[in-house]
Amino acid sequence: MQHPRIAYACCLDDEPMPHGVQQSGMLFGTSFNSGCGCDQTQDSLGVSDFLRTRLILSIVVPTSSSRLNSGSRAKTKKRGETHRLPERELRSDSKTCLAARVRVNIDDALIDFDALKVVRRLVRHGYEAYLVGGGVRDLLLGRRPKDFDVATSARPEQIRRLFRNSRIIGRRFRLVHVFFGAGKVIETATFRRNPETSSKGNELLIRSDNAFGQAHEDAIRRDLTINALLYDVESKEVLDFVGGMPDVRKRVVRTIGDPHIRFQEDPVRMLRAIKFCSRLDLGLVPDLYDAIVSNRKAIVDVARPRLLEELLKLLRCGASHRAVFLLWETGLLDCIAPEVSTLLNDAPCSAQDVQQFWQMLTEVDRRTSRRGAPLHDIALMSLLLLVPMLESVEGHRDRASAAHRFAESLFLRLAVPRRMSDSVCRIAAVLPKLEAKKPGRFARTELYKIASEVLSVARVTRVGSKSH
Ligand code: ATP
Ligand code: MG
Repeated sequence: MQHPRIAYACCLDDEPMPHGVQQSGMLFGTSFNSGCGCDQTQDSLGVSDFLRTRLILSIVVPTSSSRLNSGSRAKTKKRGETHRLPERELRSDSKTCLAARVRVNIDDALIDFDALKVVRRLVRHGYEAYLVGGGVRDLLLGRRPKDFDVATSARPEQIRRLFRNSRIIGRRFRLVHVFFGAGKVIETATFRRNPETSSKGNELLIRSDNAFGQAHEDAIRRDLTINALLYDVESKEVLDFVGGMPDVRKRVVRTIGDPHIRFQEDPVRMLRAIKFCSRLDLGLVPDLYDAIVSNRKAIVDVARPRLLEELLKLLRCGASHRAVFLLWETGLLDCIAPEVSTLLNDAPCSAQDVQQFWQMLTEVDRRTSRRGAPLHDIALMSLLLLVPMLESVEGHRDRASAAHRFAESLFLRLAVPRRMSDSVCRIAAVLPKLEAKKPGRFARTELYKIASEVLSVARVTRVGSKSH
C-alpha cells in the first residue's frame, strides 16, 4: 500500500529563540537510549536540529547562568561522540539542571484555581512544583484545557501531608489525588524518571515505570515534545527540556528522542501521536510518520483493553475523520481493524461505500463539536463498523448472528466487552426496522436511543438506506 504523506505539515527551519532566552552553547546531552543510533553531531547541525535528533537534557542556558555556561563549548567533542555531563551534574537537582526557560503570557484565569492552589502550596513548603502535560500544551496552543496535572519533587507521603483532602493511589507508581468540590481531582505526581526497558534481547518494551526522578527526567520520559513542558506558575515561565516550545510554535507533533525507539518501548504512542495531530490540528514530522509506518505491526503487542480505549479516544476526539484517515494511511488500521481497512483499500470497487464511510465520520465530528461531548462509545463503534457490517449481514435471516461472525475476530483483538459487542451487532440487525419506523419492542430498550443516533448519522450519509 502506498502512503502519500499528506500529514506532513512541518517546517524544519530554525526559529529565533524566544525572547529572553540566550542560546549560549551546548551544555550536555545524552542519547535517550543506548540504541538511539543517531550519529549526527552538533558540528553538522544547528543546536536546535541537534535537539530534535537526540534527547538533550539541557541545551539552552539562561543569560544569568554563567557557571555552567562557561566552558561548555570546550566540552564539544569530535563528530559522533555524545556529550555527557559528569555524573555529579546529571544528578544535580533541576534548578541547576538547565532548560530553556521561556516566559509566556498565560492568563491565570485560564488555569484551574485549585490546580494553582496545589502548585503554590507545594512551592511554599519548599518543593519544586509545576503544571505539566496536556494542560500546559493546550494553554500554549490557545485551547481550554480539560484538566491540569501537577508534577513535584515532593514524595507521595509529603504531598499527602500537605493536603488533607487527598489520597495516595496506585500500587506500582504511587501518585496523589487531591480532591476538591464537584468531584474535581488534581492529579499530583512525584517526578518520575525514564523507565527501564526490558533487558531481553533487543526488546525495548517498557516493563517497569516506577522510579522517582527529577524534573528534567520527568520531562524526557514523556512521549511527545509538546506534552513535556513544565509551567512554573510563579515566574510564568515554561521549562522546556526537550524542544517542545519550538514545536508548539510550529504546530508539529514530534517524539522525544528517536521515534523508532519510543514506539518500540510503547506502541500506544503511535496512536497518541495521531490523536494529538488530529484533535489539535497539528502536523506530524516526517520521521515520526515514517516510524509509525515501520513500527505499525507492534501495535498488536499492546494490551487489548488499552488498544480499545485508545481507538475509542480517536473516535471521541472530535476529529475522528482525520484520525481514522491517518490510521489507514500509515497502515495501522490494517493491524487494528482489517475488517474496516479492507473496505477502504478496495476503494475503486466500492467507491460509494468508502465515501459514505468518510462522510459518516465527518458527521460524527460535527455532532461532537456541536454538543461539546462525544457520541456514546457504542454508537462510535457501530459507526466505525457499520458499512462493512451491513454488507456482511445482507441477505441473512439472523442478522445479529451474521454481524457477530463478521466482527468476531475484531472483538477478540480489541477485547471489546460483551455489552458493547452485543449492542453493536444488535444495532446493525435492527437498523432496517428503525428506518421503516417499526422498532417494535426494541423502542423500549436502553439501546433504542443509541441506535437512533446511529441511524440518524447513517441517514445523513445514506448508509442505512442500503440495508433494505
Ligand atoms: P488529554 O488532553 O487527552 O488528557 P494528555 O496529554 O493530558 O492529553 P494523558 O493521557 O492524560 O494525556 O497523559 C498525561 C501526560 O502523561 C501526557 O501529557 C504525557 O506527558 C504523559 N504520557 C501519557 N501517556 C504516555 C506514554 N504512553 N508515554 C510517555 N508519556 C506519556
Ligand atoms: Mg490528561
